[in-house]
Order: sequence, then structure tokens, then C-alpha cells
Amino acid sequence: MTTTVIDPRSVWDAALGELQLRVTRANYETWLKHTVGVSLRDGEFVIGAPNAFVLEALEQRMFSLISETIEHVLNEPVNVSFRVSMSSGGSSVAEDRVPAPPTPARDAAPASTEPAQFEWPPYTRLIKLNARYTFDRFVVGRSNELAHAAAEAVAAKPGSTYNPLVMYSGVGLGKTHLLHAIGHRAVAMGLSVIYATTEKFTNDYIKAIREGTTEEFRDHYRNADMLLLDDIQFLIGKEQTQEGFFHTFNALHMANRQIVVTSDRPVSALRLLEDRIQSRLTGGLVVDMQPPAIETRLAILKVKAEQAGHDVPESVLELLAERVYDNVRELEGSLNRVIALAHATDSPIDVDLVTRAIDDMVDSLTTREAPPDLVLDTVAAHFGMGIDALAGRKRDKKTALARHVAMYLLREDAKLRLTAIGRVLGGKDHTTVGHGCDRIAVQLGVDSALRRQVANIREALAAS
Ligand code: ADP
Ligand code: MG
Repeated sequence: MTTTVIDPRSVWDAALGELQLRVTRANYETWLKHTVGVSLRDGEFVIGAPNAFVLEALEQRMFSLISETIEHVLNEPVNVSFRVSMSSGGSSVAEDRVPAPPTPARDAAPASTEPAQFEWPPYTRLIKLNARYTFDRFVVGRSNELAHAAAEAVAAKPGSTYNPLVMYSGVGLGKTHLLHAIGHRAVAMGLSVIYATTEKFTNDYIKAIREGTTEEFRDHYRNADMLLLDDIQFLIGKEQTQEGFFHTFNALHMANRQIVVTSDRPVSALRLLEDRIQSRLTGGLVVDMQPPAIETRLAILKVKAEQAGHDVPESVLELLAERVYDNVRELEGSLNRVIALAHATDSPIDVDLVTRAIDDMVDSLTTREAPPDLVLDTVAAHFGMGIDALAGRKRDKKTALARHVAMYLLREDAKLRLTAIGRVLGGKDHTTVGHGCDRIAVQLGVDSALRRQVANIREALAAS
């Protein structure tokens, strides 16, 4: 994957195609139309904007949406950054908030359209931390409090609390955010910090071997006070790089330099890594993060709305928190969409607008919805009980499980709102319903027996 040459222009064109469907025409014309894909390297995607004004707007208002869309196109995580680019039509001074990475001929688009070829020294100590990913802006809830506390501890005393610290979670749940937050603290303490995606680490390593510059590679990585390595699951299957990582790790660890890595799966599931690496990783502290519960989702939306400088009514935030779950990035994207729609149509941010903005999205993503009655019938039949038991008050283990599964499927497959689910189930509170759904969502990640049960129910649903 790392050797594939991907043309940033065609990636961005594909992304623009998707964005065109997701934002209003006015927003598209104003902000997106005159942008270009500048470069894609080491997991960094740089987008060129015609001027600083557009750059600012894209950064502030469309960051998540754009990241999400590019990740969808590429099917892998990227860090998105913007710069003013002459090739996108403007003429302003290149205002490089984020330094433009070198554009080597091999992944350049038609060479004549690139205004200049930058050459950075191979391992320039660039700190590419997202200014928004700080501890201040991280909302703590039950689902992530352990990871947050560990990150704070490591940032307070690098190298002497948990080393290494490994954070894992599903996508879009805040790993990169916490990793950058640790980095910001360390930079403020005057430490030399390397943040790298595993992809970049791999590319650096392969390049060093190919070009006979392994000494520089070693100097670069082993002289850091702190190494933050994102998405270590990308080491799977890359034996040569694993070797490089192993030695880097040992050198840093022996010198009491802090190492923090993230993974989208538990260390035990990184089975393809060499055993010795696995045992090194578990030698410190391993913490996981789960999808946030509804209260935390609401708190996150409040923070994001405030950051975007918008006064969004509580009812709107509640509606979004109900609709989007198990991925904070999508949650944020839904809020941005609503804000963008309000701007473009010059209408107030209210429940009506949200229904329009979100329903558009949901409609385009979902196929046929399951009728709620059928969901109830099928779940009740599967658990060998009547619908009245699902809607009743009995709390024995089996009934409670059946009820939670019903809640989950009513949300997932019947696309009912939490309040509506509460009504169908005998007048339960929407928070109770939210917790029930979340419990199943989390449990499905770890309980294969439950996964089979839910799959069977869905099969029965599809067959009816
Ligand atoms: P991951 O690396 O786990 O895929 P990210 O760290 O990229 O996820 O998070 C995705 C988005 O969600 C980011 O914009 C991040 O700021 C936001 N986010 C995730 N968790 C939280 C949280 N607890 N509080 C505030 N923002 C969050
Ligand atoms: Mg990440």
C-alpha cells in the first residue's frame, strides 16, 4: 500500500464529487470549487485553497467533513491540512501554516501544473500537531476516562509513569486527538517530540534502507524525547519495518524516553506483529476507549458548536446526539453539515433544519428500513417471549437483553429516534433507550455469541 503512487489531484477530485452531494450548492461554489489536491504523502493530505480567507473557512467549518470524505475515498486515515496554493487560482503569498511536504516527482501530478518543487531535508523535525487536538478540547466521559487519565499522566511526567502507553479504540473515537494533546504538552515543556503516523515511519524506514541513510534515520527517531506513533496496526505484515520499530523502541525505552502508540485494535489482535514487539507494547499500560454514551455525545457536540462559534439550541444538539453514535468524527461531521446548511440557506439552526440535513444523509446511506413492528415481532420470537415482555418492566437477565437488542435494532435497522423507541417499548425514557442501545453496540464489539444472535435476528428480518 505504501508503494502505490496515488495522484492527489484525482483523490481530491473524487472527494469533491462526494462533497458536492453533501454540501449545498452555495457552499460548494464559495468554498470548495477552487481548491486543489496538492500532495498526498505519508498520510498527510494537503489541499490548496485560492486565498487565506477560503483557507480559514475550510479549516474552521469543513475540516471534519473534508477529512471524512478523503478518508472515505482513500479508505484509510489521513491528516488533512490546507495551504494557500497558487495553482488553485489565487496569487497570495504562500502562507504555510502547515509546512508543505516535499513533492517528489514520483507522486506529482502532471509536472507542469506544480508551481514549485520543494525539497525538505529527509528528516526535518517538523511538528505537525493539530492545534484543535488539545486536552482542553477533549470531552471526558465514562467511555474514555481511563485513556484520558493515562494520557494526562504521561504528559505530566514523560518517560516515568507508563512507558509505553498504548491507546486503542475503533475509528473516530479520539486516539489521534489524545496523542496530539500529549504532544502539545510535551512541546510546551520544551521536549523534542516526534509525532508520526505509522505510515510515515514505514516510509522513512524503507527510504533510509534504500538510500543507505539508516544512520540519519536512527538519529532522527532515537534522539527524540518523545515518540508518538499513530495507528500502529499498519505495522502488520511489514516485517522489515517491525524490525526498525523494535530497535527504535528499545533505544528510546532504555533511555527513558516516552513512547505512546495508538492502535485500532487490541494489542492481542495485532497478532501478526512479532511476539517480542507485542510483549514490549504490553510492558507499559494499555487502555481502550469505547463509543461515548449519549450524555458524552451531547457534551462533545456542545464543545464543538462553541468552538465553531455557533449558538446551537440544545434541542438540535440532542437530536444529533441521538442520531449519530459510535463514531465521534461522524458526530462532529453531522454538526458541521447542519451549520453549513444553515449558512448556505440563511436559515436558523433548528430542529427542522437538522431533520433536513441529517435525513438527506441518512437516506442516501441506508437501504430499506425495517418496519418497527416486524423488528419487535422478530426479536420477541427469537428470545421466545411475547412483545408485551419487551415493552414490560421485568428486569431478569434474559428479558433485559432481549429488550436492549430490540432497542438497538429499532435504532439501527428501523431508524427510529430514541424517543419513538421509548414509546414503542411501553413509555421508556430516551436516556434509558440510549443506554440500552449503547450497551449492545459495545457488547457486539467483544461478544461473538451476541453478534451471532443479532445476525440471526437480522436474517429473519430480511426474510420476512
Ligand atoms: P481516532 O484517531 O480514534 O480515529 P480522532 O482522534 O481522529 O479519532 O477523533 C475524531 C474526531 O473526533 C476528532 O475531530 C476529535 O477531535 C473528535 N473527538 C473524539 N473524541 C473526542 C472527545 N472525547 N472530545 C472531543 N472531541 C473528540
Ligand atoms: Mg487516528
